[in-house]
Order: sequence, then structure tokens, then C-alpha cells
Amino acid sequence: MLFLCPKCKKELNIVDNTCRCAEGHSYDRAKGGYYNLLLGSSGGAHGDNREMVEARRDFLSRGYYRPLAEKLSSLVLDYTKKGGAVLDAGCGEGYYTATVESALKERDGESFVSGFDISKEAVKRAAKACPGITYAVAGSYHMPVGDESVDTLFNVFSPLAIDETHRVIKPGGHFIMVIPDEEHLFELKQAIYDTPYKNTVQDTHIPGFSLVRQVDVKYTMHLDTPEAISSLFMMTPYAYRTRPENKERIKGLRELDCRAEFIVFVYEKDK
Ligand SMILES: [Zn+2]
Repeated sequence: MLFLCPKCKKELNIVDNTCRCAEGHSYDRAKGGYYNLLLGSSGGAHGDNREMVEARRDFLSRGYYRPLAEKLSSLVLDYTKKGGAVLDAGCGEGYYTATVESALKERDGESFVSGFDISKEAVKRAAKACPGITYAVAGSYHMPVGDESVDTLFNVFSPLAIDETHRVIKPGGHFIMVIPDEEHLFELKQAIYDTPYKNTVQDTHIPGFSLVRQVDVKYTMHLDTPEAISSLFMMTPYAYRTRPENKERIKGLRELDCRAEFIVFVYEKDK
């Protein structure tokens, strides 16, 4: 198992339904098969709530982000050697984790994929959908993973904890990051706001890494039901930021053609 004790970074041993390190710190293995390695007293009441997780699961199950999942998988395959350790940091309900895992399994059967997210609701769903992947509830700023233990770490739309990312990846290993490009979901924003703004793309330099590849994934989605439009809206940050009168505009939409624009960056950690 890739995951270590988040308190002392020692190996975890699983006895019955508890995992314990040599220092005596112990963590529960939840019924769904994932580990709760979140430190502190909150017990997992962080991150995306059930409503948001459910919306994202519904939207992704309709296949609208399939082209991104497939491109991401092929890039992970390109940059991960046989038997490599792959980590999905901020895995949500495991849509990309599962796609990557099945592609790697088909290729070599030796590489292994783990995922974590700070949202217990999301991890619960991920573990249920794919029992072959090791999942944990944990935060990106305290990854329960040893120094230089990961061959390829990927991050899809999740907050970037750059020091932790750098710490856990092996020298010469890879970090694959997906961010929205300028016009991602622009038509959805046009439908909600009077003055929609384009996304800004930040500086792509990351200290300690070299950018080795950049791939654009851009296409138009045809959202053909109010349910698909509503799920997309509910999984975005706009669901929280939007005033009720603007939210009403979403309810009136029967269909929507909407841009999906992603940029996938592949970084290699400096040796
Ligand atoms: Zn410990």
C-alpha cells in the first residue's frame, strides 16, 4: 500500500479493519473499503458535499468528459513505466482514477493506482465503484504518502499543493495537471450571468519541475436534457456563487451547446 501513517509517515499494517503504524497511531478502514487518514477532529466533513458529489457523478456518468479521461489515461501510460505507482491527488468520486487504473491494468497488470480526496462523501463513492483501487480520505496539503514514492501523480481540477506534490514524486517522475482553459464552460456562464468572464490561465512554471508536454483537449458538448445541464451547473463553483435569480435561468434551459476546454500539462520532476 502506498499510504503511510499521516502522523509519523511510518508504514501502515492492516489488522482486521484497522490500520496501525509501529508508533501505535491507528485509523479505521470504513465499510466501503477506504481508509480515513484525515488528521484533526473533523472526521471528513471537508471538501465537496454530498450534493456536489452526486451532481458530478451524474454528469460524468453521461460521458461528457470522456475525451479528457481518455487523453489523461494515455498520457499517464506514456509517462509511467511498468510497475509504477500512480496517485490521483484530489480524486473526487474516482472517475479519472478508475479510467487510468483500467488502462494501466490492461497494459501491464503491475502498476498500481491509489487516490485520495478530502471529501469523505466523494471517497465513499469512489471506493464503492472500484474496489481494486486503494482510496483514502486525506488532504492535498498533508498527503499520507512517503517522500519520493510516486512515479506519476495526477491532479484534475484540484487545489495544487506544490511542496507536497514535489515531496512525494520520485526524481525523474511525472506530475500531470489538468486545468480549465479560457473558454471552458463559457456558454454555461453566458446562460447564468449578464457579463460572463473567461477563465484566466496562470503562469505554468512550477519550481523543481520541467514542463515536458502540453496537450489541449477542446470540444463542444451537446447537453440535451435539463438534468445534464443542472448536474453540470451543480458541480461547478458557480452553484455557490450565483444569486438565486440567476440560478433560475438554468432551470429554464432545455438544451445547451457548451465548450469543454482543458489543458493537460505534463511535468517531469528535476533529478
Ligand atoms: Zn504513525
